[in-house]
Amino acid sequence: MIEFASLFSGSSGNALYIEYKDTRLLIDAGVSGIRIEKAMASINKDPSLLDGILVTHEHSDHCQSIGILNRRFNIPIYINKGTWKNVEHCVGRVNEAYMNFFHSNEEFTVKDFIVHPFSIPHDASDPVGFSFFADNKKITTATDIGHMNKNLLKNLEKSDLLLLECNHDLTMLENGSYPYPLKKRIKSDYGHLCNNHTGDTILKLVQNGQRRFLLGHLSRENNYPELAFKTVSNYLTDNGYSVGKDIELDVVLRDVTSQIYYI
Ligand SMILES: [Zn+2]
Ligand SMILES: [Zn+2]
Repeated sequence: MIEFASLFSGSSGNALYIEYKDTRLLIDAGVSGIRIEKAMASINKDPSLLDGILVTHEHSDHCQSIGILNRRFNIPIYINKGTWKNVEHCVGRVNEAYMNFFHSNEEFTVKDFIVHPFSIPHDASDPVGFSFFADNKKITTATDIGHMNKNLLKNLEKSDLLLLECNHDLTMLENGSYPYPLKKRIKSDYGHLCNNHTGDTILKLVQNGQRRFLLGHLSRENNYPELAFKTVSNYLTDNGYSVGKDIELDVVLRDVTSQIYYI
């Protein structure tokens, strides 16, 4: 059985945890090392046992403490070269032996997991989402998505658990206090996914047989958990699906570590 938890998810910092058999991975480390350690302790997980930190892209809400965790616990870093060249200057000293460079859209193995890093449209150098394959299951995490496209949708399909970005409510963003250039960036094809696009995507996946979803990377200013949940679940109930019965849908929060999901 695979274990999955969101330690932190949102525009203020991201770190996800996945475990199968003897393999324990962190996806991103976008809050302080201390906060990650505390969050892991709260679900009885030990950071010194991590086998890797996988990095999606260079924005600081995803990579703030990768250097600190690497040095404190000797954790290998898995990253592509495009992301690395943009974070190297702020990560600090990392022993080369701990660096593992993957190529986007090419599978690699970390002990018991096969990992598929797939490209996402976002304003970073070479951003990715990840699918994890183990125990005949597929777990996928995909956030920081400017827009949905065919290729990306294909990578989300047939996941036994999908954590998908549900960043903002468009009306809140448009009427909110963000300066115009920032609003424009978020709405752009290389910004973030709004609640409606997430709902539409999840409906397509449900119609294709998928059942378990987590909504993540919610904006602090332009969204709130109840609204994200309601917007997405409306897409499903309007099409005859019963959320909580046919479909498992949950929101993972910015500052609260989730339960452990068993897949
Ligand atoms: Zn982000
Ligand atoms: Zn980003």
